Amino acid sequence: MHCLFCKKESTGSRSQEHIIPESLGNTRHVLPVGLVCDSCNNYFSREVEKPFLESAAITVLRFHQAIPSKRGRVPSVQGVLVPRFPVMCWKEPKDSVLAHVALEEDGLKHLLSYDTGRIIIPAEGVPPSDRVVSRFLGKAGLEALASRLVRYPEGLEYLVTEPQLDAVRDHARRGTLPDWPYHVRRIYDANRTSPDERGSMVQVVHEFDILQTDSSEYYFILAIFGLEFALNLGGPEVDGYLAWLNCHEAASPLYWGRNAG
Ligand SMILES: [Zn+2]
Repeated sequence: MHCLFCKKESTGSRSQEHIIPESLGNTRHVLPVGLVCDSCNNYFSREVEKPFLESAAITVLRFHQAIPSKRGRVPSVQGVLVPRFPVMCWKEPKDSVLAHVALEEDGLKHLLSYDTGRIIIPAEGVPPSDRVVSRFLGKAGLEALASRLVRYPEGLEYLVTEPQLDAVRDHARRGTLPDWPYHVRRIYDANRTSPDERGSMVQVVHEFDILQTDSSEYYFILAIFGLEFALNLGGPEVDGYLAWLNCHEAASPLYWGRNAG
């Protein structure tokens, strides 16, 4: 067996590669052991997923939606007790409404002298850089493509050796290009709920698919709380996706064709 990214022999590797990080609520979408070697798995976790997950925008999103890390903790964010006292805010997993706050001494004195106070918590943060996002999408996208071929060993072998995928492989591994364009837009409100298989109303944290366009380009389509990203796995341009949107009334591939209804 060879690693999907570095192509080295990976038969002895033991780590489990999550296509989408566990800290975005993914427990189901994992690759067979060895398809990504231990060394690439560690590297991606440290250098590709962490910068994305710990960016201000994603941290604030994980806080508001109360998504725990794989250690079970929701990331905390810094807020302000009006007029100027810093507070740390944190939440329990699965409680997207109630926030606990820790006040420093000055803030506590202020609050005691006024009885009530107003705490401002940031609603959004600075998004990760395009390079961080595109490396994250390239890594997850190539793995999503591999997950479709898990039952076909010759298909996986093809993915490892296919030169057309070397550019996205290298970009995920080394960030070779300063900018690998991707398409981003909101397809539904972050707080939307929809029925799950048992009819309970739930929020969709993440959903993804591979779109094959008429010109045989493969796009990785990922939505995180309704924010849809599209990245071309074959090369750094999104013209094919814009053309696809044009022909499909700007539908999301996540809700079109076999994904409709
Ligand atoms: Zn590797």
